[in-house]
Amino acid sequence: MGYYEFKIKISDESKDALIQMMSQAGCLGVIENGNTITAYFPDFLGINKITDALSSSKKTLKDSGLDDKMSFEYVFIGERDWNESWKKKFKPIDVGENLTILPPWEENSNGRISLIIDPGMAFGTGHHETTKTCLTLIERFSKDLIPPLVNSFLDFGTGTGILAIAALKLGFKHAVCVDIDPLAIDAAQRNAELNTLENIEIKEGSISLVDGKFDFIAANLMSEILIQNAHKMAFSLNKPGIALLSGMIVGQEDDVITAMEKEGLHVLEKFYDGRWVSVLLTH
Ligand code: SAM
Repeated sequence: MGYYEFKIKISDESKDALIQMMSQAGCLGVIENGNTITAYFPDFLGINKITDALSSSKKTLKDSGLDDKMSFEYVFIGERDWNESWKKKFKPIDVGENLTILPPWEENSNGRISLIIDPGMAFGTGHHETTKTCLTLIERFSKDLIPPLVNSFLDFGTGTGILAIAALKLGFKHAVCVDIDPLAIDAAQRNAELNTLENIEIKEGSISLVDGKFDFIAANLMSEILIQNAHKMAFSLNKPGIALLSGMIVGQEDDVITAMEKEGLHVLEKFYDGRWVSVLLTH
């Protein structure tokens, strides 16, 4: 498989909305650098479909009152060059107090807990603000929770599997991961193997597939999906238990919180990072 690398120039205020829309259009990953977004799409989507998606994103930005000025250029990257191109871009990064995310070709020499993530295929390399916030909070809770509570972890919208991998390395006993994207499932399975984890179940589909209750649910997803699945998330959360919802853009959090409150949960804390919001809730 080959890939298209798009370099898109876009204003700050419209960047996050565009990234969300591109991810829905099949974008596999983005790297942000100031006002330039580098976005990767698999070639099987076809170049016309990708440029059409960008044109309709421009229209949506305009309709939402956001700055719709954007320019882009793209190149095709063959499979071999793709690996090299990712390798150059992904360097180990430290997150939270004691986690380091590193690609499989790097060695961890700093004594921190390593999360080995092959970034080749799905969202969740740890470079995105929402993933970093989720990791930091999972780390914090894995320390604060009394041991029987650090039992079961549900990763709803797992992407590369990074949140579940972190949870297991931080002491959770068992993790279930779901994602509707088959590429994410492949990535999560590969990453679970790279981290030699066995107590992890990875299923293609949404949260409706999941049975049982969990001590901690992490859901780094668009607000519409969080709202649609509020009932099932609340139902799947142990009492006591923690739900960590992320992936909301500032301004969207109130609707998500209202949906969760209707299901009997209340907010413990909210975290703002740039334009992104994460919320911790419990019963
Ligand atoms: N958990 C990772 C992280 O925190 O970096 C990846 C989060 S990424 C923003 C969202 C993921 O949710 C994508 O991999 C996407 O395929 C998946 N997803 C979107 N809608 C979903 C749904 N209804 N059910 C399950 N997964 C979904």
